[in-house]
Amino acid sequence: MIETVHTLVIGGGQAGVATSAHLQKQGVPHLVLERDRIAERWRSWRWDSLVANGPAWHDRFPEAEFDAIDPNAFAGKEAVADYFVRFASDRNLPIREGVAVTKLERQGDHFRAATATGTIQARNVVVATGPFQKPVIPTVITNPAITQLHSNSYRNPGQLPDGAVLVVGAGSSGAQIAEELVRAGRRVFLSLGPHDRPPRRYRGQDFVWWLGKLGKWDMKAPTPGTEHITIAVSGAYGGHTMDFRRLAALGVTLLGRAGPYSGGKLQIAADLAQNIAAGDRNYLSVLDEADAYAADHGLDLPEDPGAREFLPLPSCVTDPILSLDLRAEGISTILWATGFKLDFGWIDIPVFREDGRPRHTDGVSEVPGLYFVGLPWLSCRGSAFIWGAWRDAERLAAHIAMRSPQTVA
Ligand SMILES: Cc1cc2nc3c(=O)[nH]c(=O)nc-3n(C[C@H](O)[C@H](O)[C@H](O)COP(=O)(O)OP(=O)(O)OC[C@H]3O[C@@H](n4cnc5c(N)ncnc54)[C@H](O)[C@@H]3O)c2cc1C
Repeated sequence: MIETVHTLVIGGGQAGVATSAHLQKQGVPHLVLERDRIAERWRSWRWDSLVANGPAWHDRFPEAEFDAIDPNAFAGKEAVADYFVRFASDRNLPIREGVAVTKLERQGDHFRAATATGTIQARNVVVATGPFQKPVIPTVITNPAITQLHSNSYRNPGQLPDGAVLVVGAGSSGAQIAEELVRAGRRVFLSLGPHDRPPRRYRGQDFVWWLGKLGKWDMKAPTPGTEHITIAVSGAYGGHTMDFRRLAALGVTLLGRAGPYSGGKLQIAADLAQNIAAGDRNYLSVLDEADAYAADHGLDLPEDPGAREFLPLPSCVTDPILSLDLRAEGISTILWATGFKLDFGWIDIPVFREDGRPRHTDGVSEVPGLYFVGLPWLSCRGSAFIWGAWRDAERLAAHIAMRSPQTVA
C-alpha cells in the first residue's frame, strides 16, 4: 500500500515538531513519522536528574512558555519532553508515533519511505532524526571485571556497581555525571580533553543571554572537521559554572585525555594542565567580551569581580596521573561520555560526504526536495538546540512552501 503525502518529516523530536509547526503555518500538508514517542530521546536517552542546560526562558520555542516552571529555572528532562508533547497536541500537529522509516529512496521527482506498515510517497522530505544518533566509544577495553556504559545509558549512581568510576569525556554530560557521582559518595576519576566552559552567570545574566548578545549562537560553522566544540555547562543544582577545580575540591580526580589501554592500565596524556588552562582562557575571554559589550552598549549591569577568582590548581593537575591502573584504583565502571555520531545508513540517496554528514546549504540539500534539520552547525552554532532548530525549521518550511505549491501532492 502506498500512501501519498505532500511533505514527510522523519523524526518527532523537537526539530520534527518545530518543522511540523512551521509547515502548518505555511499551509503545507504534511505528516511526521516518529519511531517511538514524541521527544523520546529526552525521556529514555538521558539520565534521571538531567535538566536543560539553559534556563526555561531560553530553552524553549519562542511562541510557547513552559507551564509552571520559573523562567530562570532549568526544566527537568521529563518536563522538556512533556513540553513538546503538549506543544504538538495544542496545535494538532499530524504526528504518527511508533512508525520507523527503514529506508528512504528517490524515485523520479518523489521520495519513497519504507515503514513496517507500508510505503509513503512524498514530494519533499525533512530528515529530523537528531544530532546525536549513535553513541561513540573511542577505546576498546576488554576487561570483564569492568562495567562499561555510554552516557546515554546512564540513569543514576545506584545503577552502577560498587567501586570507583572513571568518567571519560568532560563535556556537559561527563562533567555533570561526574559531579552527580562524587556527590553520591563515589570515588570518581574524570578524563578531560580540550573544552569550552563559559560562566553560568556573569554580571547578573545567564551565559545563554551573553552568547546571544555576543552573536555566538549565530556563528557559522568553522572549517570542516573543526566544528565540534566540547562545552561544559550545567543547569544542575540550580545552575553553576562548570569549574574543574571545584569538581576536584569535591573529590573528583582529574585526568588528561584517555589513551590506549593494555595490561590493566589506561595511558593518560600529559595534557591536563594545558586543557585546564585553555578552558580558563575560554572562560575569561567570555567575561572580557561581555565587559566590552556592556561598556560599548552602556549596559547598567552589576560588577562581578568574584567571577575572576579561581581556586588553586589541585594536585591532580600539578602532579598528574599518566598511567591509570584500573584494579589498583578500585575502578569498577567506565562511563563513556564521549559523544555521538550520525547514522544515515537507512537513506539510500547519494547526498552524504565521506564523514557521513549530508551535503547541504543551511539544511537545503543538494537533492531537490530533501532537507535536514536539527543537525549541529546546520546553519549556525545554535542549530542543534531547541530555539535554533525552531529558527532553521521556519526557514526550511518557507523554502518548501515556495518550492512546491501545496495543491500538488
Ligand atoms: C545529554 C544531552 C543534553 C542536552 N541538553 C540540551 C539542552 O538543555 N538544551 C538544548 O537546547 N539542547 C540540548 N541538547 C541538544 C538537543 O536539544 C537534543 O539532542 C535534542 O534531543 C535534539 O532534538 P532533535 O529533534 O533534533 O533530535 P532527537 O531528539 O534525537 O529526535 C529525533 C527523533 O527522530 C526519531 N527517529 C530517528 N530515526 C528515525 C526513523 N528512521 N524513523 C522515524 N523516526 C526516527 C527518534 O526516535 C527521535 O525521537 C542535549 C543533548 C544531549 C545529548
